[in-house]
Amino acid sequence: MSEFTRFINQSRLFSRDEEHRLKILKAISTYDDKVDQMKISQFRDWQQARGYASKIKQYVLDHLPTLLEEFEEKISARGAEVLWARDKKEAQKYFLDIAKRHQAKRVVKSKSMTTEEIEFNELCEDNDIDVIESDLGELIVQLAGEKPYHIVTPAMHKSKAEIGHLFQESLGAPETDDAEELTMIAREHLRKTYVTSDIGVTGANFIVAHEGALVMTENEGNGRLTMSCPPVHIAIVGIEKVLPRLSDLSLFLPLLATSGTGQQVTGYNSIIKGPRQEGELDGPEKMYIILLDNGRSELYTKHEFRDILCCIRCGACLNACPVYRTIGGHTYHTPYQGPVGSVITPQFRGMNHWSHLSFASSLCAACSSVCPVHIDIHQLLLENRWEAHQEGKTGFSWNTGLKIWSWVMSSRGRLNTMSTLGHIVYRWFLPFLSRSKRKRIPKIPKRSFEKLWNDYEQQI
Ligand code: SF4
Repeated sequence: MSEFTRFINQSRLFSRDEEHRLKILKAISTYDDKVDQMKISQFRDWQQARGYASKIKQYVLDHLPTLLEEFEEKISARGAEVLWARDKKEAQKYFLDIAKRHQAKRVVKSKSMTTEEIEFNELCEDNDIDVIESDLGELIVQLAGEKPYHIVTPAMHKSKAEIGHLFQESLGAPETDDAEELTMIAREHLRKTYVTSDIGVTGANFIVAHEGALVMTENEGNGRLTMSCPPVHIAIVGIEKVLPRLSDLSLFLPLLATSGTGQQVTGYNSIIKGPRQEGELDGPEKMYIILLDNGRSELYTKHEFRDILCCIRCGACLNACPVYRTIGGHTYHTPYQGPVGSVITPQFRGMNHWSHLSFASSLCAACSSVCPVHIDIHQLLLENRWEAHQEGKTGFSWNTGLKIWSWVMSSRGRLNTMSTLGHIVYRWFLPFLSRSKRKRIPKIPKRSFEKLWNDYEQQI
């Protein structure tokens, strides 16, 4: 089955599943309330904060190669090894080499979108390496044999009762739907994993160039334990995650927390500047940073797409998107869902099988209006559509439809004729269309704007 057919089938299925939609809407409306309040209480001027964040990220884009080199130089000086991975295969190879060198049989991993991108869990399974997710949401989807549903809240689609049932089946825990009890079950299950794992794998929310530091933000403390308890720490990080200075965190940490989860700042924020140093009591003995390109450099060279590299993966555009809210995260079948995923997936994986995602948008621009770093996401979706069209990937019906539309719109007479025909079809078919349970057909006024205007002009 092609990705396009799969997408259409899943969209139909999920958009008609009322229980699923109610769960998602409930989760997102709680998020909306918290974010709206936080924007007012935490920022004197939210728009100004977005503008400033965008300026910093534009500076990063203008100086990306030198900032990355500076980061490498600084963190290497403190004993970390930086590896540059051109693509998924190279990142996987680096990981397997490190795992072999340290005879690793068990890996504990915190939440990271780059590991989803390189299919890290599948890689471990294929190579007989035990991998345990330490983030609660990730653990839930791992136990359920699913992929993350959302880039920030991977188990958003699961109710507490479903999670209780899952824990009972897979961990042998007593069944409960109490949030605190569920958290304690996961905690009990995970605690011993940190000290029995050979490698801890994390991502990073930011890398700070001048300081040579990784920054991780989280709410459970699992990321901190994942990187510090096992003897080896591997961070797999996209090359776009750069910030120039440590002081930039004073804006980016609250910005990410507000847009991501409606918090002032996340519960745990770690700044990691290398492996355990002489005289220090804890931290990993070895630290590797795999800087992942995987299509980012190509995006960087396309001037019109460069802005998407400013993304801080807050997930706000997913929550705002009426399409995501209707069809849900799994329908996209990619690590990055929603508007941001619909921009980068066709770019990373090719228009051939993924161009349809760029069309999964009404272009309402809700995504762009909430993006904390001011990315015009809907414009980039249009750019994708244009690229797909240029590459001949838009298909017969789309191309023909556009040709007809352009033919009609280029003549006043043809537009009037089509408008009259539209009125007739509307009157004839309205009784059938109105029976639809899921759609309300908008009323078309009896007189068109042109007729009203003509009348108006005759009166004056
Ligand atoms: S595109 Fe903007 S809103 Fe969407 S995840 Fe990235 S930073 Fe957040």
